Amino acid sequence: MKKRTIKSLAVAVLLAALLAFPAHKLSAVTEGTIILGNVMGSGVTTLVRGFLQGQVHNFKDAVKCLAYGSASGYGFYQSKKLVAADRVFGGILLANLSASVIDNVTSGEGPFSYLGFSLPLVRIEVATPLARQKRSLLRVTVSPRDAISLALSFKKSDRVSLRNGMLAFEADTPLASHVLGWAYSLFPTTLSGTDESVYRHEMVHVVQSLQLMAASPEPFVKSYRREEGKAKLLSFAGFRMQAIGLANDLTLSKVQSYSKYWREAEAYQLVQSL
Ligand SMILES: [Zn+2]
Repeated sequence: MKKRTIKSLAVAVLLAALLAFPAHKLSAVTEGTIILGNVMGSGVTTLVRGFLQGQVHNFKDAVKCLAYGSASGYGFYQSKKLVAADRVFGGILLANLSASVIDNVTSGEGPFSYLGFSLPLVRIEVATPLARQKRSLLRVTVSPRDAISLALSFKKSDRVSLRNGMLAFEADTPLASHVLGWAYSLFPTTLSGTDESVYRHEMVHVVQSLQLMAASPEPFVKSYRREEGKAKLLSFAGFRMQAIGLANDLTLSKVQSYSKYWREAEAYQLVQSL
């Protein structure tokens, strides 16, 4: 098979994996389905991302991506549980760690070479002592998608504050009738006066956004290893396209009805089942 055919096949597998995310009726979603969806979803997408980024050369590489991807998927599940239990900052830290492990292994690095944290607009990654030489101590990537989401959040809300280390927006008018909250990428908005469980629900969506960020192959992000020159303190590593998150928003959120959409099914199950 030609390399391009293989790459097209890989993209098809990635989309099929996304479509296979738990899509049952809200009431029928069990904890087990959610765990399985997270573990398998992140496992398969990590393997495909590693392959598309040219880091899967043999069976051992494939197992490495699948294993660390699945472990990170379980990490994302646990971080959503923490958020649902009102340990929001801990949940966000764990989600960022899980995303870092996937970023690392799909770039041919060790799982803990770099630790990243997504701020509004930029994601900062810090090299740990496990990173290879000629590294940059700090790396910055920019997400145009997050910039658009931030602008939208400001536009559709009335106030913004810092809550659990993250921006939180509050609106006086709902986005549509009966809508109590919404989240664009990393930014949750709640209607003023709503129960705080709405905030936790939206923060589960934020964790899902980090998970989809980690699933996306990134052709415009530089590799961690610098081919020439000495170690650097700070480097700009490129733009994250977050294609999977975008594809998800443009397709699944419309194809699957609200009550069956995997992101809602998961958020409702986790926040209500407490
Ligand atoms: Zn929701």
